[in-house]
Amino acid sequence: MNPLERLDPDALRRHQWARLETLARVAVPANAFITAQWKRVGLADTRDLRSWDDFRRLPLTRKSELMEDQAAHPPFGSNLSYPLERYVRVHQTSGTTGTPLRWLDTQESWEWWARCWTFVLSAAGLGPGDRVFFPFSFGLFVGFWAGFEGARALGALAIPGGGQDSAQRLAAMETLGATAVCCTPSYALHLAEVARERGVALERLGVRATVHAGEPGAGIPAVRARIEESWGARAYDHAGMTEMGAYGFECAAQAGLHVNETEFIVEVIDPATGRAADDGELVLSNLGRLGSPLLRYRTGDRVRVARTPCECGRTFLRLADGILGRVDDMLIVRGVNVFPSALEGIVRRFAAVDEFLIEVYRRGHLDEVRLLLEVNGTAAPVVAAVQEAVRVDLGIRVEAVPVPQQSLPRYELKARRVVRRARE
Ligand SMILES: [Zn+2]
Repeated sequence: MNPLERLDPDALRRHQWARLETLARVAVPANAFITAQWKRVGLADTRDLRSWDDFRRLPLTRKSELMEDQAAHPPFGSNLSYPLERYVRVHQTSGTTGTPLRWLDTQESWEWWARCWTFVLSAAGLGPGDRVFFPFSFGLFVGFWAGFEGARALGALAIPGGGQDSAQRLAAMETLGATAVCCTPSYALHLAEVARERGVALERLGVRATVHAGEPGAGIPAVRARIEESWGARAYDHAGMTEMGAYGFECAAQAGLHVNETEFIVEVIDPATGRAADDGELVLSNLGRLGSPLLRYRTGDRVRVARTPCECGRTFLRLADGILGRVDDMLIVRGVNVFPSALEGIVRRFAAVDEFLIEVYRRGHLDEVRLLLEVNGTAAPVVAAVQEAVRVDLGIRVEAVPVPQQSLPRYELKARRVVRRARE
């Protein structure tokens, strides 16, 4: 383990502060976006940043501001600390919630991405000698590009799985002796499904760890259990964002997500009041992406802080159960707040359910939820059991209906399993 992962809280704050001062010297006044944020709260100069109280005076950054800034200063926006020719990589968000956001990286910040990923991969027990397969279409979405660099930086063999279908990917993993796979939880389950159809014994491939990002899935016990069982491997959760970096990872204790506090400052706020809270919205600042930094960024992710120490010995803050969901994804079903991930946690306990979709529709003034279930075998008893489990666990009645096999979409990137319909 990197000694930085075990710093005591005071040493960790001092480490963060030194990084923050370096960032401030690079970004103010060179970076127009960051400098404008500072001026809004009366900080004119980097020398005005003297304490953590000053830091907490800085405005929270919203994604909508970044979108507006890129629209006003196309194509890259004004959050740039250096002239354009210093930047060597461009990526963009997956665009699941509107127009994609573009992000530039310098040589240094691209190396920083890789370094952040080495924390993720080594916490999953990987290192030199491992062969890490990335079943990912290497396009503009940053996704696993950075993970690929992380595997390289760690000294493992990084295997690209772009331009291949699922069957070809399974074959490549076998031929090349993959020992680890990085993909979304949904895609790990889809690969397991394809393997089953083709008679490939996934658990005999030799993959011992799977690392998952893009969706909360791997932090949901029933999803994790299903991935681990079908792959014969341990499944690790990871969290990152195009505009922020690879900030969260799971250790061998698999007890929630650690936030990499040597590279990120973490805050959790009540989304309504902006005050510090243990259960609320995750707010992050990155410390190593000096060319396009983000300070006090409202991630939109709902989290709960775990206050007990982790048995792994890391002192980094831990988020119990990982990312619980998007703040704006929460459904209100008959007065009960429900994250789609809670429904997924129940549905995935049923091995006979291959895939599912959550339909949300309006009845009168209320949201109603219907679960569409692809059941392998006789559907009726499984559908009834899922409905009953939702009633018992969440205290709500939802309608569950069987749909034909292979009728629901499968995903390589972020799954969209919640669909809003205008009416029933
Ligand atoms: Zn731990």
